[in-house]
Amino acid sequence: MKIILLGAPGAGKGTVAKVLTELDGSVQISTGDILRGAVQAGTALGQKADAFMKAGDLVPDELIMDIMKSRLQEPDCKNGFLLDGFPRTIPQAEALKTLLSDLGLALDMAVSLEVPREEILNRLTTRRTCENPACQAIYNVRSSPTKIKGICDKCGSKVVQREDETEAAISHRLETYNEKTSPLIGYYEKEGLLMPVDATVTDEVVKAIQDRLKDR
Ligand code: ADP
Ligand code: ZN
Repeated sequence: MKIILLGAPGAGKGTVAKVLTELDGSVQISTGDILRGAVQAGTALGQKADAFMKAGDLVPDELIMDIMKSRLQEPDCKNGFLLDGFPRTIPQAEALKTLLSDLGLALDMAVSLEVPREEILNRLTTRRTCENPACQAIYNVRSSPTKIKGICDKCGSKVVQREDETEAAISHRLETYNEKTSPLIGYYEKEGLLMPVDATVTDEVVKAIQDRLKDR
């Protein structure tokens, strides 16, 4: 499958993507994971992205498109991909359209994960992320805690609250989402690719996407 996952921070894009990759060998491509990995590794990309990310601002489109241009041409994308956290702006969506047509690829759909704002705030303040850049597993202190407090079930590294998940940074990220990213819903609707789903329950999102893919 070749899918874009749209939705506010905390809507569950990463969680849904991880489940879907296990179904058909598609890869999850998360620009947030790639950027956090680059920040921790201290690469040139990481140094450029760091301050934007800490503030809850978007990283400039040019940097993101450089990442995606090379990422989408890696061999593991042949089995399909789930774009998680990209595109985030209309210019990124337009650049993606050109890039995919250059590569001879077509999207199946853009899934919009819809979750009420209160639930989003709740999820983000209780979210914890594995600090190992190669893992970045997501937990929630209320709904899906680690087996041992503060330790990742998958890799044994420390599980922490992300630096951009303080209350101030979260509300800024939500504003940025409303202003810059939510217009993508209308964009993909016009493109005839939009599939809105109620994303309150992750398993139901996965099932709805599978059903839709079968109908195609
Ligand atoms: P979430 O979806 O929970 O907000 P992500 O892990 O997708 O978190 O992104 C974390 C941060 O990385 C964003 O706040 C932003 O600074 C940066 N980022 C990730 N993807 C993009 C993108 N496509 N365009 C610009 N900035 C991005
Ligand atoms: Zn881990």
